[in-house]
Parts: sequence; structure tokens; C-alpha cells
Amino acid sequence: VDLKLMNLNQLVQTLFPLIQADAINADKYIEVKLAEIPDLLLDEKEIRQLILNLVRNGLEAMSPGGKLLIKTFIDGDTVILSVQDHGSGIKTEVLEKIGTPFFTTKDTGTGLGLAVCYSIADRHNATIDIETGPSGTTFFIRFGAVIG
Ligand code: ADP
Ligand code: MG
Repeated sequence: VDLKLMNLNQLVQTLFPLIQADAINADKYIEVKLAEIPDLLLDEKEIRQLILNLVRNGLEAMSPGGKLLIKTFIDGDTVILSVQDHGSGIKTEVLEKIGTPFFTTKDTGTGLGLAVCYSIADRHNATIDIETGPSGTTFFIRFGAVIG
């Protein structure tokens, strides 16, 4: 990894045109809400990949017209990036296997997206939490904040 002090919000903003195009093509919407957050030690390429993988999964989980919400915010002394979709949630059997390389429920899926997300999170000492229910799923990526 190539960790540099940078702002996660800026990374989300530079990715926005790309993910917005993905969304529009699928007749879906993306909303971004960025709070003021401290800089973090990040590998730019890896965090882009992580965001892309989560956003693509979220978009794929929703029917046309669905809205995806990307947020950054502070929680205690950590910074959280969340990606919330309004799909139909993840079943327990699937949840248990999520992140296992090559596990997919999609006809043309690779099953690598989340496995990659977990290893990227690991290299950043970040954790991934998932909240899921019948009205959608939220992935929370929690980074330890860098003070100063
Ligand atoms: P792929 O997208 O190629 O299937 P991933 O590793 O990205 O591989 O995801 C693995 C599986 O996890 C998906 O096939 C899907 O069943 C489930 N999944 C991931 N993200 C979501 C989501 N936001 N909503 C519902 N299911 C999801
Ligand atoms: Mg995927």
C-alpha cells in the first residue's frame, strides 16, 4: 500500500462523475452527503476501488428508480464512509458467505468485489460493518482518524 494523508471527501468527489454515469445508465440515482472530516492515511487507488465495488453492488441491488446514498461522517474518534442502497437486503445465508472470494449470487458476477473490499479495509486498519433488512443494505467502512 501507498498510504498518504488525504481527504476521503475529495476522493468521493473525484469518483462522482464515474459512479453517476453508472447510475444514470441503470436509471438509478446517487445522493452524496459529506461531513467535514479530518484527513486520513489512504491509498488513493485502493480506496477508489473500494468505493466503486460498494457502489456497484448497491446499484445492482436496486430496481430502476432506486436511490443510493453515500455519506461520510464522524463517529467518536473515527471516520465512517457509508454506502446505503434501497434494495431488498441480504439473506442470512448470503451474508455468511459475503467476502469469500468467488462467492456470488449473480449470473455474471465474479464474487471478488467484496473480497477485495475486505483486504483493502484490512490494509487501512479499517473495519466493515453491514446493516441489512427488507428495505435495503448499508455498508459502513470505519477508519481510525488521524489527528493533527
Ligand atoms: P459480485 O458483485 O460479483 O457478485 P461481490 O463480492 O461484490 O461479488 O458480492 C458478493 C455477493 O454479495 C453478491 O453476489 C450479492 O449476493 C451480495 N451483495 C453484495 N452487496 C450487496 C448489496 N448491496 N445488496 C444485496 N446483496 C449484496
Ligand atoms: Mg460486486
